Amino acid sequence: MSESTMGIQDLTAYAESRGGRLLSLDFEGMRTGHRWACAVGHEFEASPWILIHGGYWCSECFPSAEGGGGWDWDKQSEIDPLVARFYRK
Ligand SMILES: [Zn+2]
Repeated sequence: MSESTMGIQDLTAYAESRGGRLLSLDFEGMRTGHRWACAVGHEFEASPWILIHGGYWCSECFPSAEGGGGWDWDKQSEIDPLVARFYRK
């Protein structure tokens, strides 16, 4: 996946693959923050780079590793198609 060939349609497809939506209307670069909404409606800002290459998604649904909150994988597997595809209870 080359950076130069990424476009708004790719970001939209990625958001949908996580059960969410892309809120930004224009592609502004892989390392520029864009607005997103997760499956349960949290809005957040993140660069496509960190999401696609880092695997990150909504920071409210996925607390940081340092936060100690833990990830609710049962819940995520119900709303995030990507997680559902690989998660095993
Ligand atoms: Zn969320």
